Amino acid sequence: MSTANLAPNTLVPKTGVYYCVMCHDVAPALRRKAESMAKEKGVDPKKLEEVGGLEGIYRAMGVGSNTPVTRKRFKAGKRFGVCPRHKYSTGWTLEKEEITTGKKWWKFWK
Ligand SMILES: [Zn+2]
Repeated sequence: MSTANLAPNTLVPKTGVYYCVMCHDVAPALRRKAESMAKEKGVDPKKLEEVGGLEGIYRAMGVGSNTPVTRKRFKAGKRFGVCPRHKYSTGWTLEKEEITTGKKWWKFWK
């Protein structure tokens, strides 16, 4: 069963913490692309950053600077939600599965 790049509204295969692939993979890739574009033009990305230039490029590309990756916990059998930044145009990848044993053993201790 695939646990990578699952679209919003599809069934959650496993309970756990998922991250938004747009935040996690696509935004950093775009940042690298912007940096290499700057390098091609002979511009030092570090210098650009100092004057806020590269941030302008990022914003134009729709990737904010150092925006945190959206992580959410989803329960198996439910449906995936959306990323607040990328809405429905994203996918969720399982980062940390929660091992559940079907029975809620801790209830026996109460
Ligand atoms: Zn996102």
